[in-house]
Amino acid sequence: MISHEPAGYRCPFCVLIAGGATDISGPDDVVARTDVAVAFIAPSWKPHNPGSVLVVSAVHVENLYTLPTVVGHGVHDLVQQVAVAIRRSYGCAGISTRQHNEPAGDQSVWHYHVHVSPRFDGDDLYRSLQSSTHPTREERTRFADLLRDQLRRASHQPAVASGDGPGRDGG
Ligand SMILES: [Zn+2]
Repeated sequence: MISHEPAGYRCPFCVLIAGGATDISGPDDVVARTDVAVAFIAPSWKPHNPGSVLVVSAVHVENLYTLPTVVGHGVHDLVQQVAVAIRRSYGCAGISTRQHNEPAGDQSVWHYHVHVSPRFDGDDLYRSLQSSTHPTREERTRFADLLRDQLRRASHQPAVASGDGPGRDGG
């Protein structure tokens, strides 16, 4: 098994999943939970992509290589729900997802996660990956509230339409 997790690693994502807080994240950041996946507002954002979300496996698995397929499927289901909710509530023009494995793959937290980022015309995301902003709790809460509200509404809608969604005029 390929692993880079140091001995005694205190996983910040497992702390959040258990309902705890770290220096940079807390329970208020969590926007959705399923049996196998948890979504929360990311503790750092790229300069022009505020409100980015991380979707993680509910169980501690270091990387894609050993992720149980049922968990991977569940994570992707939640990625889709979060992407639709971001698209409907942030006023963005697109969505990108990113997932990293091992140091050479730019992984820095040793718990499987998928970045879900709002995209805007000319936001330069892939040229700004080396710089990060660290939002305040208030800034994160603003986006968490938007997403929770949108996800709650989505749970009352029949399905994601293949064309125009009802939220298109919402931003
Ligand atoms: Zn973990």
